[in-house]
Amino acid sequence: MGNPKGFLTINKKEAGYRPVHERVLDFGEVEQTLNSEDRKLQASRCMDCGVPFCHWACPLGNKMPEWQDLIYKGKWKEAAELLQTTNDFPEFTGRICPALCEKACVLNYEENSITIRENEAAVMEYAFEQGYVTPNPPKTRTGKKVAVIGGGPAGLAAANQLNKRGHSVTVFEKDNAVGGLLRFGIPDFKLNKLVIDRRLALLEAEGIEFKVSTEVGKDIKGTEILKKYDAVVITIGAGQPRDLPVEGRDINGVYFALQFLQQQNHLIKGDKIAEKDIISAKGKNVLVIGGGDTGSDCVGTSIRQGAKSVTQIEILPKPSEEYVPATMWPNWPNTLRTSSSHKEGCNRRWNLATKRFIAGEDGKLSGVEVVEVAWGVDENGKYGMKEIGTPEIIEAELVTLAMGFVQPVHEGLLNELGVAYDGRGNVAIDANTTQSSVKKVFAAGDAASGASLVVRAIAAGRKTAEEVDKFLK
Ligand SMILES: Cc1cc2nc3c(=O)[nH]c(=O)nc-3n(C[C@H](O)[C@H](O)[C@H](O)COP(=O)(O)OP(=O)(O)OC[C@H]3O[C@@H](n4cnc5c(N)ncnc54)[C@H](O)[C@@H]3O)c2cc1C
Repeated sequence: MGNPKGFLTINKKEAGYRPVHERVLDFGEVEQTLNSEDRKLQASRCMDCGVPFCHWACPLGNKMPEWQDLIYKGKWKEAAELLQTTNDFPEFTGRICPALCEKACVLNYEENSITIRENEAAVMEYAFEQGYVTPNPPKTRTGKKVAVIGGGPAGLAAANQLNKRGHSVTVFEKDNAVGGLLRFGIPDFKLNKLVIDRRLALLEAEGIEFKVSTEVGKDIKGTEILKKYDAVVITIGAGQPRDLPVEGRDINGVYFALQFLQQQNHLIKGDKIAEKDIISAKGKNVLVIGGGDTGSDCVGTSIRQGAKSVTQIEILPKPSEEYVPATMWPNWPNTLRTSSSHKEGCNRRWNLATKRFIAGEDGKLSGVEVVEVAWGVDENGKYGMKEIGTPEIIEAELVTLAMGFVQPVHEGLLNELGVAYDGRGNVAIDANTTQSSVKKVFAAGDAASGASLVVRAIAAGRKTAEEVDKFLK
């Protein structure tokens, strides 16, 4: 720790976002960056606590105090190297991680944490700019072949770690480009897809083979893959969205959030989509159902597409804006989160249940009936909600359902291989070996854990690679 008084004398400074009036006109990344002098000062705020809770909270076990110190001392190359010893893709998490580490930072006890996520992104950008991140293929090959099915962060981390250990890895991806939800899910204004391409070029140069537009279980049988490879890693994500089967669900204008978000990613990528299939928010009143991060991404995307108005509703009560003792430091606080998209102009409402979707005279969606609910314990001691107040109609010509994901898609690959599921429908794995119920088939990421975070997917991919390596040996 170069500056023992940094945290006492230097205030937290975040780079902030591009101005709203400017950023809503494009899909470029909204976050700005600090100059390197400010970055160093921010890094100097790290206290190098006796117990670094940031490190404890990070699923990857990133060594924040050490690389913050290297940033402070101007050793950015070394900082980037250290970062990459625990995290395969700091340039992704540096952009889109909710930063569990910052919430656990000891200084966050007073809501004034160290800047960690932004520093991570800055150091990695510097390393790429300076040409420090170069392909480093394994010196020898083991002769073992591993198939990774699904090219999201879990699959990419597993592939990277297995390749580094000398195994020959092929990644099968059903979409027309690799990246999973990083590429087709998370909006470009949070993560520029060139950042993924840059990393993929390195992985390819290091020897990983990518087969895109290949859905295993459909275009190629899972059993065929099992025969050809020494081990198989399933990282297909949790692609089954939670539906809202109320009256009018089939009306034209009601879509799953991912249908809407992925299409926008494909359009930016330059993929052709037939005019009749385009889901556009332009000139429409948009209602986003679901108050989480996916919903927030729908808000930002709708605004950029030129929506007339955007409303986001949530069935649960509004989280507290202040410290919640039940989720006390160093845990993740269950407080209200306001994203850059929310700040771009969105009406947020809570305690609203959706009763039905309503069609206009043209048969297309014209509104949604909602009713206020109250949460509490009923006379039988059961916690739940009950409707209060009179139903209300929210005008909407486009609805996106952003209520989370229930499980991985069972049809196709998983049912064909006959893997067992856990109580929530995820691929059941042994917690130690990450093996599924089918011999030599492993699983990681959202497919095994349920929908989660990129940082957890990368951590799970790394753990699985370690276990596959032991299995192959
Ligand atoms: C809209 C949205 C925004 C999000 N924003 C954030 C965020 O800001 N920060 C954060 O940390 N997390 C975020 N998340 C969560 C995060 O993206 C996921 O937790 C993470 O991507 C899971 O990684 P994964 O590799 O397990 O699965 P995925 O990223 O879902 O990747 C699975 C891949 O498998 C492919 N696939 C599926 N079936 C097959 C098959 N049969 N054959 C071949 N390929 C197949 C899919 O096409 C996909 O590419 C967001 C999620 C969504 C939906």
